[in-house]
Amino acid sequence: MKRFYTFNAGCIRRGLDTIRIQEYLQRNGWKLTRRLMSADLIVIATCGVVHANEINSLRAIEHAARKKSASSRLVVTGCLPNINPVAIRLLGDFTLIPTVDIENIDKLVKPGIPFKHIKAPDSVKSGRDVTNYLVARSFCRKSLIYKALFNRFGMNSNFTATSVLVGKSLKYIKGLRSGHRNPKIVPYYNIAIARGCLSACAFCATKLAIGGLRSRPEEEILDEFKKGLDRGYGIFQLISEDTGCYGLDIGSSLPSLLRKLFSIEGNYKVMIIDYHPRWLISQYRELVPLLIENRSKVREMFIPVQSGSDRMLELMGRNHRANEIKAILQEVKEKAPCISLRTSLLIGFPGETEEDFEATKDFIRGVGFSEVTVNRYEDRPNTPSSKMQGKVEGKTIERRAKFLAEHMNCHILS
Ligand code: SF4
Repeated sequence: MKRFYTFNAGCIRRGLDTIRIQEYLQRNGWKLTRRLMSADLIVIATCGVVHANEINSLRAIEHAARKKSASSRLVVTGCLPNINPVAIRLLGDFTLIPTVDIENIDKLVKPGIPFKHIKAPDSVKSGRDVTNYLVARSFCRKSLIYKALFNRFGMNSNFTATSVLVGKSLKYIKGLRSGHRNPKIVPYYNIAIARGCLSACAFCATKLAIGGLRSRPEEEILDEFKKGLDRGYGIFQLISEDTGCYGLDIGSSLPSLLRKLFSIEGNYKVMIIDYHPRWLISQYRELVPLLIENRSKVREMFIPVQSGSDRMLELMGRNHRANEIKAILQEVKEKAPCISLRTSLLIGFPGETEEDFEATKDFIRGVGFSEVTVNRYEDRPNTPSSKMQGKVEGKTIERRAKFLAEHMNCHILS
C-alpha cells in the first residue's frame, strides 16, 4: 500500500484543506504515515501571508526534502505557490499545486474517487498534527523564547505534539493552583462558507493566492450547520478570506444566511471571523438589528480594521472611513455586550505618520475590543504596497507596535 505524509504550515483554512487531502488519499487506498522517510507522497500546505509564515513554510519544505526518500514525490500546496513560487523553486524541483487548483492533484494520484467528490471537513479535530501545529503556533504570542524554538523545530510533529502536551499540563497546574477549573476546550465546528473576496487591499498577498469570491450555496451551509448540531457541536466558526462579502456572487448575503441560520432551534453560538468592515457598513441596516436580536447566539466577531486613520485606509484600498465603522462597533458593543469583538491592526503601512498612528490609538480606545492583534507591515511579493513610496523605517514600526503591546494590551502577531 502506498504511503503519504502531510504537513500544514498554514492557517485553519489550509488545515482543513490538509485534512481533506488526507481523506482523499485514504479513500483512494493510500496509508497515512508520520514518518517522512517511508512516504511515497509528501504534501506540504504552506502560508505566505506574512514573511514569518513564509519562512516556516520553506523550513517545512526543506525539512521534508532533506528527510524524504529519493523516490518519493513532494507536493507543495497552500498559498505560497501563488505568492512566492520563486522561493520554493530555489529549494528544489517540487510539484506546486496552489490551493485554488487543488483538484489538479488528481493528475498526480490518478484516483478512483476524484478530489471534488471528497467533502470539505468541518473540524480540524481529526487531524492531530494539523491541530498541534495551529495550537503550538498560537503559543508564539506568549513567549519569544518559544517563538524561536517553534521557528527552529515547528515542522517536526513530535515537537508540536510535545508543546501542546506541555501547554495543557501547565494550564492544568495553573488551574489547580488558582482553584479555578480550566474551561473545557470545546472544539469548533468550522464551516467554510466561501473562498476568496471582492476587495483588493494593497498589502494583501492572500488575494494573489486565493483570488475572487466563490460562495457556497446557502442550503449546503445550513445542512452542514444542522449536521454539526446533530453531532453535538455548540460553537460554529464561519470562515472565509472575507466572510462579509459572502453570497454577493450568488444573489445572497451574510445577513440573509445568518437570518436563516438563527431561525434554526438549538443551543449554539456562532463565531464570524475575517469580516471586512466595509460590509458591516454597507449591510448595517440588515445586519446590526439581526445581531442584536440574536446576540445570545453570537459568541464573537473578528473584524480586522487595520487602521484608525482615513488616510491610511484609503492608501490600503479598504473602501471605508474610520468613523463609519467606529460608530457601528460602539453600537454593537453597547446593545450586545455579550458579543466579543476582536480586531487586528497593520502598523507601519507605507506613508504612516505619527498622526495616523495617533488616530489608530484613538480608534482602539474608542471601541474597547476584547482582543487586538498587531501585524507589523512588511512588503509581500507582487502586492501594490510593495511598490509604494514612503516606507516607514523598521525601528519606527517596532516602536509603534511595542507601544501598542506595552500600553494598550495588544498582541503582536507578526
Ligand atoms: S479582504 Fe483584503 S485583506 Fe482580506 S483577503 Fe481580500 S484583499 Fe486580502
